[in-house]
Amino acid sequence: MNYIDLRSDTVTKPSPEMREAMAEAEVGDDVYMDDPTVNALQEKAASMLGKQDALFVPSGTMGNLLALLVHCQRGDEAIVGEKSHIYLNEAGGMSALGGIFPHPVMNQADGTLALEDIRASIQTEDVHHTITRLICIENTQNVCGGIPLTAEYTAQVGKIAKENGLSLHIDGARIFNAAAALHVDVKDLTAPADSVMFCLSKGLVAPVGSMLVGTSKFIARARHLRKMLGGGMRQVGVLAAAGLISLEKMTGRLGQDHARAKNLFEGLKQVQGLRLDARSSSNMVYFDLADHVKLTEDEIIAEMKKRGVLVDWAGVRRFRLVTHYWVDDAGVEKTIKGFAEILK
Ligand SMILES: *Cc1c(COP(=O)(O)O)cnc(C)c1O
Repeated sequence: MNYIDLRSDTVTKPSPEMREAMAEAEVGDDVYMDDPTVNALQEKAASMLGKQDALFVPSGTMGNLLALLVHCQRGDEAIVGEKSHIYLNEAGGMSALGGIFPHPVMNQADGTLALEDIRASIQTEDVHHTITRLICIENTQNVCGGIPLTAEYTAQVGKIAKENGLSLHIDGARIFNAAAALHVDVKDLTAPADSVMFCLSKGLVAPVGSMLVGTSKFIARARHLRKMLGGGMRQVGVLAAAGLISLEKMTGRLGQDHARAKNLFEGLKQVQGLRLDARSSSNMVYFDLADHVKLTEDEIIAEMKKRGVLVDWAGVRRFRLVTHYWVDDAGVEKTIKGFAEILK
């Protein structure tokens, strides 16, 4: 069966054009920095995000970890959102592998960390305290609803970082979704940051890979640490070829996914038994089950699967649906109809 798969944008299989480019990619040994396709991808990523250099990494998790390891030494502290991917969903790598102490700050409903909370979290010089080195923010903020953080907000966080001699890292797994949702150039969102990670493997449709961008010095150190972690890959131009199409062709079409998410949101709002979040901000639709709904999460997932739609829960009686390249208007209609049927 050809399922409509709304579990995540990570499920996106490569487009036919990507598969062709992968088959024909010119390759070399990327540990020797000899792979022309990887080099082209890294140059393009750095230039699009307005940074000096970039590094292709196997996953977003490794990209974030490398940034943390470059910015912080053992025993240093990094300020992170308590609903951030770095804090919740990266297996504690920052502390397990980097000895870095996370300082969680509450995420506001709009996905931001309140500026006064960030300021209050910066450790003062005291023999009892860790040393704060880094602020991490996430754009779009996944768990808060796929909400984009604005350029103005990011600039304010950058200002706090600068005033306090800290670095700013953006977990921009979906930063191109943020740029599309806000109708800004992605550079406007990345300018205040010392480093940014973004994923090619999500809404940008590539099968594998993420990019880390920053200064040449930062990337040189990250390349060394990537080798240490076992992420130095060889003829990886076969993957970078897909990533180039992500940057050239896929960044410009994310608005379509957002429009479909909006349609899905409006449609599901009419379904009895679903309590939609206040809005759909990018490619995600979050909702809770109303109290009167007797079906469990697993029963709903099974019933939707019978109707050709894959969905996943995102907490107790909570669901997240994600639109992407392989979800068309008919898929959106089918999903709304499916929920209306099973909750009738
Ligand atoms: C997916 C994701 C990552 C990590 O990417 P992987 O490639 O799955 O390791 C990091 N941050 C956010 C916000 C994500 O959604």
